[in-house]
Amino acid sequence: MILGILFGFGMTNVDWGKDFVLDWINPLGTIFVKLLKLIAIPLILASLIKGISDLKDISKFRNIGLRTIAIYIGTTVVAISIGLILVNLLKPGIGISEDTITQLTETYSNDSGVTSKLEEASKQKDSGPLQFLEDMVPDNAFKALGDNSLMLQVIFFTIFMGISMLLIGEEKARPLKNFFDAMNDVVLKMVDLIMLTAPVAVFALLANVVVSSGDSNLLFALLKYAGVVTLGLVLMIVFYSVVVATFTRYNPWTFLKEMSPAQLLAFSTSSSAATLPVTMERVEEHIGVDKEVSSFVLPVGATINMDGTSLYQGVAAVFIAQALSFDLPFSAQLTIVLTALLASIGSAAVPGAGMVMLVIVLEAIGFPEDKLAIGLALIFAVDRPLDMLRTVVNVTGDACVAMMVAKSVGKLGKPKVQNWDDHYDEVK
Ligand code: ASP
Repeated sequence: MILGILFGFGMTNVDWGKDFVLDWINPLGTIFVKLLKLIAIPLILASLIKGISDLKDISKFRNIGLRTIAIYIGTTVVAISIGLILVNLLKPGIGISEDTITQLTETYSNDSGVTSKLEEASKQKDSGPLQFLEDMVPDNAFKALGDNSLMLQVIFFTIFMGISMLLIGEEKARPLKNFFDAMNDVVLKMVDLIMLTAPVAVFALLANVVVSSGDSNLLFALLKYAGVVTLGLVLMIVFYSVVVATFTRYNPWTFLKEMSPAQLLAFSTSSSAATLPVTMERVEEHIGVDKEVSSFVLPVGATINMDGTSLYQGVAAVFIAQALSFDLPFSAQLTIVLTALLASIGSAAVPGAGMVMLVIVLEAIGFPEDKLAIGLALIFAVDRPLDMLRTVVNVTGDACVAMMVAKSVGKLGKPKVQNWDDHYDEVK
């Protein structure tokens, strides 16, 4: 990671540096992310079917499902509240000079990054309140399996299939179960093999982020805002550590250490979906959460539980309002809690998705439509680094909830792999 960042900075000082990184270094990172995405759907399929068909009693599954959703909502509300408290106390948007605002607006309001986010948001906005339920049900299983953005549809189909396997009885379902058991092991081995290339890929991904980042003067103007988001995200990690220690009696340092490969990947790829295979492997093999729990909680969490994203949306919305002197009464802040909760559920687990849904939050508090581009332009320069950080929190939050749910249903056991280095030596 560090070498990638240093290399990226070095290359920004050479004329041909940016092109060199984009043409010759970045593909290594892109291939790695593609490989991770490649195995995400087979992994969800195999592990969720294994998880459900291992259940002896179907009511257990309902129990796990309800707990998961309730805790996910709870942690997200905590995240938004932390964000709102910090942004109201520290007021990063007050005192930004008119010059800086003009400069940021001129540089970014017509930038393709900002305009594409506005376009995507306007598509989302036209849907009705129950659209998300409609979207969850696939009308073609193979189409769902063939599209990474349809992860919730895959989860729906897989749960449906797993439950039906339970209902036809163990005897009849055995061949299918054996097939998915074996597939699950194969896919986990694929994760291990892909992870062997992680050092090179992470170097490439970070070098690319550095050479592609915007004007550094403008980055400095947004330091206070970025600092508030980062502080909030750090507090969320502290919150998870406390929860893990008190609720599961698991050492929080060990939790963070065991999760660190997934966190590092989340940071480098800015995508919870790409990180999912590694998150699942860490939580199951290294922390000891039973597949019955993790195979449901983690894929669902990667798509709907985004604590880091919701915290960022709360801070960003208030920051933009402060900087542009848009009055925000207390009731508007409550609206932010509700819409940021829904917006983080609706955000896709891919880079930059949080900013698309931020538009919906801004609209909900009555922010004028013609100023949306200016609002996004204000924060665009630091969005990628913040995206990297919030994705780390999103992934850590999913793992923490998986542990809580597992503990509450007696499914948090001893990890299979206790020493990371030995495990990777073995893989090699
Ligand atoms: N990149 C984030 C994720 O994948 C979503 C976002 O906040 O943009 O979790």
